Amino acid sequence: MKELVFATHNKNKFLEVQQMLPPNFLLRSLSDIGCHEPIAETADTLEGNARIKAAYIKETYGLDCFADDTGLEVVALNGAPGVYSARYAGADADSEKNMQKLLSALKGVKDRRARFRTVITLATGDTFKNFEGQVSGLITLQPEGSGGFGYDPVFRPEGYTETFAQLSAAEKNRISHRGLAFERLYTFLKSAG
Ligand code: IMP
Repeated sequence: MKELVFATHNKNKFLEVQQMLPPNFLLRSLSDIGCHEPIAETADTLEGNARIKAAYIKETYGLDCFADDTGLEVVALNGAPGVYSARYAGADADSEKNMQKLLSALKGVKDRRARFRTVITLATGDTFKNFEGQVSGLITLQPEGSGGFGYDPVFRPEGYTETFAQLSAAEKNRISHRGLAFERLYTFLKSAG
C-alpha cells in the first residue's frame, strides 16, 4: 500500500478525492500527519499555490503528497478572479458576496465566457508533476440552482442548459475541472503502480 498525503484542510474535498484514488493507495489527511497549521497561499498563479502546498508538506514532513488549487477565469475580466476566487470580494467574503461582485463586474457585458481551472501538483521522491483540468462555460445573468458551492449557481457549463448548482453532484464531478484533473492524477498513479 502506497501512502499519499492530500494537502488540504477541507474535509469535504478530502472525502471526495479519497473515493477517486486507485485501491493500492492510502490517502492521509493533514490531521492524520499532525499538520494543523494553515499553509499560506501566497503565489499569484494556481500552479504556484499548488506547488507551495505540496512543497511545504514534502519539506516539513518528508512525505509524498499532492495539493490542488482552483480558480474561475472570466474572459471579459482578463482571467479574474482566477487565483483570488475564494477572496474575490475580500478576505472574509462568502460565496454569496463573491458571486454578487462577479455579477456586478459583468453588468451589461455581453461576453460571458469563463472557465474553471484546477491544477494539482504531485510531489513524489524529489519530483514535482502537475495535472490540470478545465471546463468552459458562461456566467449567467443571475444565480440559478441551490446545489454545489462557490460560484456554481452562476456557472453554466458548455453544452448544458443548467448551472453547476442545478446538476447532480455525480454529473458535475464527471465533467468538472476538478473531476478531470483528478482523473488525470488517478490515471498517472495507476500507471506508475
Ligand atoms: P479551491 O482551490 O478548491 O479552494 O477553490 C478556490 C475557490 O474557487 C473556492 O473558494 C470557490 O470560490 C471557487 N471554486 C473552486 N471550485 C469550484 C467549483 O467546483 N464550483 C464553484 N466554485 C468553485
